[in-house]
Amino acid sequence: VTIRLEERLLSKNARIASRNRAWFAARGLRAINLIGSPGAGKTALLEASIPQLGADAVAVLEGDQATARDAERIARTGCDVIQINTGTGCHLDASMVEGALVQLTCGAGPIFIENVGNLVCPALFDLGEAAKVVVLSVTEGDDKPVKYPHVFAAASLLVLSKIDLLPHLSFDVERCVDHARSVNPDLEVLLVSARRGDGIDAWCTWARDAASAGLVTEGTP
Ligand code: MG
Ligand code: ZN
Repeated sequence: VTIRLEERLLSKNARIASRNRAWFAARGLRAINLIGSPGAGKTALLEASIPQLGADAVAVLEGDQATARDAERIARTGCDVIQINTGTGCHLDASMVEGALVQLTCGAGPIFIENVGNLVCPALFDLGEAAKVVVLSVTEGDDKPVKYPHVFAAASLLVLSKIDLLPHLSFDVERCVDHARSVNPDLEVLLVSARRGDGIDAWCTWARDAASAGLVTEGTP
């Protein structure tokens, strides 16, 4: 019964996600779904890159259980942002995104969807994005990719964040990347420090390409 419920839930979600994808496509836009634990540096990554991507071009949907704190941070960059509060919910689903799209005034893109901080179920819910990006900070374990394989398998890119802290930690970048590629051989990897600016150019280039090229992931398995 549980499995059948989940199937029904996910197939309804997939239908709405393809409507969202069509909504983006009709405007020449593609969305990027940012997934990571609470505190992985998802909002900081956006704050560091929006000035370079152009605040007029970018729009952000912010998912959190409560508060508009991250939306307020993003709004300070000057870009269009909508906060989605999930209450007790631990992930965004396609209908929440659909509900927010009507409020969105879109520039040229990219559109970022910052998911609720969680490495588990956001991997299952297609939101209509062109690509999933998993943000993992070096303050987390380098074995996260094998402990939470689904999100790493579903992602196109791994952003390893807070690399300015590496000298103080025992985090092994090479081991982490090996683990990540063991679940997803095609996974691209970028090393980033939002605070110091390392890798922000490369991330902006990746995001621009993902938002304009044919990087469409058709739903989730
Ligand atoms: Mg955040
Ligand atoms: Zn959830």
